[in-house]
Amino acid sequence: MLGGIRILLAALAAALLLGQSVPSRAQTTEENKAFLETASRTLRWEEPAEPVKIIGPLYFVGTKGLGAWLFTTTEGLILLNTGMPSSGPMIEASIRKLGFSPDDIKILLTGHAHIDHAGGHAYIKQLFGAKVAAMDSEVQNLESGGESDFFYGRDVDVLGFAPAYVDRVLRDGDQVRLGDVVLTALHTPGHTRGATTWTTTIVDGGKAYSLAFPDGGGINPGYRLADRPSYPGIEADYRNTLHRLEMLKPDIWFSSHLEKMDFDGKRERATTEGVSAWVDPEGYRKFVATQRRAFEDQMDKEMAPARKSAEGP
Ligand SMILES: [Zn+2]
Repeated sequence: MLGGIRILLAALAAALLLGQSVPSRAQTTEENKAFLETASRTLRWEEPAEPVKIIGPLYFVGTKGLGAWLFTTTEGLILLNTGMPSSGPMIEASIRKLGFSPDDIKILLTGHAHIDHAGGHAYIKQLFGAKVAAMDSEVQNLESGGESDFFYGRDVDVLGFAPAYVDRVLRDGDQVRLGDVVLTALHTPGHTRGATTWTTTIVDGGKAYSLAFPDGGGINPGYRLADRPSYPGIEADYRNTLHRLEMLKPDIWFSSHLEKMDFDGKRERATTEGVSAWVDPEGYRKFVATQRRAFEDQMDKEMAPARKSAEGP
């Protein structure tokens, strides 16, 4: 029984990893618990990682599997994503290791309010007084610790996290500025209602690079888009989000799930190649194309029974 569940979970984790969808149905609490444990273990969400400078004012302070990004500005620090609830102290340690003080974290952001990206928000906010800025339609998710999430909210005991009060409510296209760094918030809903893609321009070595932190286009196991949709309008949200992500042409891009952006490979190459190792417009195009394919595949699957009955026996 347990072995069967393990195989199922391994398949789910693999599907998630590959960005594929799996047969849709509600997950049980036990399945959610085992899924979270399996994903965390196989994708190394809770293993500490060495922090590293990436480009200009941008540093990596995440775990082996999860991206957390630190912008150092003339007026303090901006932290984008806080990983799992266990990641807070790891991120804190990474920031200190780089020679910065977590007391200088002024602004706390996330791509979306799930346990693996906003899990450490409350920790960072409480200890260091950072102000949380979030997309209007993601505020409830952050402030309820995931309880208002359209999909995982019904299993908040397993998939919830410590709530973090939002100090600044953002709308699509709003900018977050601190010192000499300006980040633009694009509302890219689907994965959550308030998922946010962050973009910015960074100058390094006299050259300007466009950066994107795409979010919102990934479909998790169990989500439904068209046939008994997970929330009204989810299909249109994904369509608009994928279109928007397809329109972006970043030089450098980041995924909060590091394996999707070959973080380790780029990091290794950067030791000899420098900033150019992070430049990857083709990788971004492929990443969004994979999400687009997963969306169309799931639409086909969900619409197949309806088509059959329309065609008759
Ligand atoms: Zn998520």
